[in-house]
Amino acid sequence: MDRLWDMGEIKRIMESSGFTFSKALGQNFLINPSVCPKMAELCGADENTGVIEVGPGIGVLTNELCKVAKKVVAIELDERLPAILGKTLADHDNVKVISGDVMKIDLHKLIEDEFQGMDVVVCANLPYYITSPVIMKLLEEKLPIKALTVMVQKEAADRLCAQMGTRECGAVTAAVRYYSEPKLLFKVSAGSFVPAPKVDSAVIRMDVDKKPALEIKDEKLFFRVVRGAFSQRRKTVANSLSSMLSIDKQTVNSAIVKAGVNPQARPEAMTLEEFAALSNALLEEMQ
Ligand code: SAM
Repeated sequence: MDRLWDMGEIKRIMESSGFTFSKALGQNFLINPSVCPKMAELCGADENTGVIEVGPGIGVLTNELCKVAKKVVAIELDERLPAILGKTLADHDNVKVISGDVMKIDLHKLIEDEFQGMDVVVCANLPYYITSPVIMKLLEEKLPIKALTVMVQKEAADRLCAQMGTRECGAVTAAVRYYSEPKLLFKVSAGSFVPAPKVDSAVIRMDVDKKPALEIKDEKLFFRVVRGAFSQRRKTVANSLSSMLSIDKQTVNSAIVKAGVNPQARPEAMTLEEFAALSNALLEEMQ
């Protein structure tokens, strides 16, 4: 069904099904007709691609994805929605709705079961209460996907797409840049949703197949170093690491010298390569 962005159509669906928005599930549905076709166009899906959508709502983005992709699998937590989606997506025979929580679903298995022989991308207007955990799950699980295209709050988009070595970056920036090449695609005003959220949004794409070539000897330690350094962003990395990671100062200082990092550096001035070198040097110093 087209026109799922139309307020009159949304009201009609809500009245006939008794559906009401759930704030707890982050239900802000898109009512701007230009956003979903643009997301479907820019997410990298084509007739050989399978798309995973998180949170289809009443199917406004799903409908556009079905037009460009070979197959769409949409995961929806709200148990009231699959019945509605059965009607709104009735025009398409290349879509499957799975009832469940994206944080609990085995996505490796889903890809194996549903998308044999296809390239896979993720495309979603994410529920804001769970944006970072969903993105981190999708990246950390190292799924065989090409890209993630997601709508998030504008502020989150700025942090996720920030360059390392700038004031906007944080631990999540380093994680995203470790797993992918992120890019802010376009902004979306708060008035493009019903109910309208308090802040504007943006669509970003993380190209997983373009992740940087970094040599990291211990991934867990790398992330401990990044999180430890950014947990006290005004302190020097040397001071934060010894206090947050409970490593004695001498070991941290030797690692900093070995990695060629400025001992006075604050985390927001460091590159991803410097974090990698520092965690590798710390590993050697601690052995
Ligand atoms: N795609 C629709 C659109 O763009 O209008 C709805 C987007 S709305 C921001 C987020 C959707 O995610 C809602 O349908 C909500 O029920 C669903 N959702 C919330 N938490 C979820 C979870 N943990 N797993 C899967 N879906 C979830």
